[in-house]
Amino acid sequence: MIFRQLFDQASSCYTYLLADSSSGEAILIDTVFEQSRRDRALLNELGLKLAHVIDTHCHADHVTGAWLLKQQTHSEIGISAAAGIEGADNYFEHGAQIHFGSRYITARATPGHTSGCMSYVLDDESIVFTGDSLLIRGCGRTDFQEGDARTLYQSIKMQILTLPEQTHIYPGHDYRGLMLTTVAEEKKFNSRFGGNISENDFAGYMENLGLPHPGKIDIAVPANLKSGRPDSGGLPEDEPSWAPLRFTFGGIWEIDSNWLIDHLADVQIIDVREEDEFDGPLGHIENAKLIPLGKLNDELENIAKDSPIVTVCRSGARSAQATIMLRRAGLGEIANLHGGMLHWRDQGLSVSGGIVEPDYQI
Ligand code: FE
Repeated sequence: MIFRQLFDQASSCYTYLLADSSSGEAILIDTVFEQSRRDRALLNELGLKLAHVIDTHCHADHVTGAWLLKQQTHSEIGISAAAGIEGADNYFEHGAQIHFGSRYITARATPGHTSGCMSYVLDDESIVFTGDSLLIRGCGRTDFQEGDARTLYQSIKMQILTLPEQTHIYPGHDYRGLMLTTVAEEKKFNSRFGGNISENDFAGYMENLGLPHPGKIDIAVPANLKSGRPDSGGLPEDEPSWAPLRFTFGGIWEIDSNWLIDHLADVQIIDVREEDEFDGPLGHIENAKLIPLGKLNDELENIAKDSPIVTVCRSGARSAQATIMLRRAGLGEIANLHGGMLHWRDQGLSVSGGIVEPDYQI
């Protein structure tokens, strides 16, 4: 099985990717709207097909990526029936199984933070995803969205802490960067409900937290009640349209050589290798402009602002850094040539200068 824990800095929200490695079917739990590009890049790089986008509850601190990912990947949206959300494909009751390839997770109703909270337990009970019901040494607040401290206490005690002691608990958030805990640890050390803390103790604690009103609640909840569909109903217009670019999980926009060879006249190619490499055995792409990476920041005025830029180097690493530098300098339409000159030559594409294969590989 493939498992990844992803983090959104703005909301301190964790997104979880689970996939069956033999079939490549994947699920995502608790996505963030603004991170859908990152999530799709990871799915693409790992060769996975997204089957389900699932939320643990109707979040108040970020907008779910469920609707957006469904449009982009044709996955199905799933959430608790009790969450009262529009636009899902699957509404889970307690005990529902959500399958991905030969694996599955089981939904357990864990209301209390909201009335529609679900936790999801992996088939072998090695992992539980608790959303905001149980946090590491803490728990979700119970003072809005039909929250109820006594209900949450019962959910945690009966549905989460009854799992095997060694079960790993992955929460929906952590504001200190803590990543996972176990049932045994939380039973013993959770300061809100661990040890001998009673339901009355817990309710007294939760009623006196005195937390501020959540900052994003007025935007997040209405959007999440529609599975994260924007009011416009349209996809965000922040995808580059000048070329079929690919966004990598490493955060770089890339273009393939087979597109570039047909559009040499439409872009400016900036080769960021050193002069001896530019004139060396690999050769260079026709009309490429040589600006070594170390001189790029000093040569910005020699780069045209009115046509897209493709950066090139030997393997695609230095030119990836060049895209970051050019973006920082305020340039907009930029892409890295995937695989650099090595891949270009491997494809048998034409170059100026250079020597014939197979001797160009130095
Ligand atoms: Fe929440």
